[in-house]
Amino acid sequence: MDLLDTLTAKGLRGEVPTREEALAVLATTDDELLDVVAAAGKVRRRWFGRRVKLNYLVNLKSGLCPEDCSYCSQRLGSKAEILKYTWLKPEQAADAARAGVAGGAKRVCLVASGRGPTDRDIDRVTDTMAAIKDADPEVEICVCLGLLSDNQAERLKAAGADAYNHNLNTSENTYGTITKTHTYADRVDTVQKAHGAGLSACSGLIAGMGETDEDLVDVVFALRELGSDSVPVNFLIPFEGTPLAKEWNLTPQRCLRILAMVRFVNPDTEVRIAGGREVHLRSMQPLGLHIANSIFLGDYLTSEGQAGQADLDMIKDAGFEVEGAGEATLPRHRADVAEAAAAAGSCGGSAASACGSGGGCGPCGGHSHGAPVAAPVTEGTDDGPREDLVKVRRRGAGTELAPNA
Ligand code: SF4
Repeated sequence: MDLLDTLTAKGLRGEVPTREEALAVLATTDDELLDVVAAAGKVRRRWFGRRVKLNYLVNLKSGLCPEDCSYCSQRLGSKAEILKYTWLKPEQAADAARAGVAGGAKRVCLVASGRGPTDRDIDRVTDTMAAIKDADPEVEICVCLGLLSDNQAERLKAAGADAYNHNLNTSENTYGTITKTHTYADRVDTVQKAHGAGLSACSGLIAGMGETDEDLVDVVFALRELGSDSVPVNFLIPFEGTPLAKEWNLTPQRCLRILAMVRFVNPDTEVRIAGGREVHLRSMQPLGLHIANSIFLGDYLTSEGQAGQADLDMIKDAGFEVEGAGEATLPRHRADVAEAAAAAGSCGGSAASACGSGGGCGPCGGHSHGAPVAAPVTEGTDDGPREDLVKVRRRGAGTELAPNA
């Protein structure tokens, strides 16, 4: 049986491929690309049909972060000319959220820059969630406030949060080259705290930061082991004024291969095309919908996406449908695992029993962190930088202009 037949068969059974099979997906050629998309598409349709979940970002507090994440336009010392503002008032955030929900979003993602929240910040977000749920009790709320201290996840859960986002971003091996002010283990710890408090864990990655294929496979397997219920796949937006401004390493074909690899490793988990969709997939975005079952509607935290209506048109034209508020995102068996893991206060992955050593779930699963590091993937650099496609957000939350939804 060839690679794609094997991956399809495993994905339809909800089984995870081997590391070697995941690496082989990333090594496929452009001639094989449509076959890769078709194989991942079969797995996607098995577990998620033709539904596309829409998520809407509200940046509660923008810029001026004391952390130094190299990829981030809000980092310490960033020269990127992004919007900078402190906490939105609950009514302002609720107004922005309402626009996203009216545009079709099922989940609102409340994000604030910073290392982590103070207890006063948890109070602010509690008030914001109440304002949003007052207007629309059915909306899912995911909160993203950075590293959590003890009991903060429990407070967010009690206040009505459904999920907590904290991305691992890249492999444990390379994390220290991307960020110096906190560690990979810190990130794992926060995902575990969120999960342990009964919040659905949303944790993903950023591709295009100069990582190797092995790094990508490492982080995707680590996310699987962590029991992430949704995996946002970001494609680096190389903002001028950040250390990674020159890292234009992605092509649409490479992005599709990465999405397919993530899907095969997470056959029955929400896979979301996140930041960088328009910049890197460009006219290939509809093919991404055959692999991922979730996207952001409209704009991102500090950059503008395509018009919300263009997102809706793309979904319809490609033969997909927006997931409704009453529809479950995860397949029943997967939701049961997530709920049981949350109730037990542990990781939801298959190697949950081995978690806790070495600072968290990252080292579980037996993959070879000690292996020699391959050269960074430089595929696609002949596309050249596409700075023309990077648009700093100038509308929506924190401005006088209407949100893009
Ligand atoms: S990713 Fe978050 S913690 Fe890191 S610099 Fe950006 S806002 Fe700060």
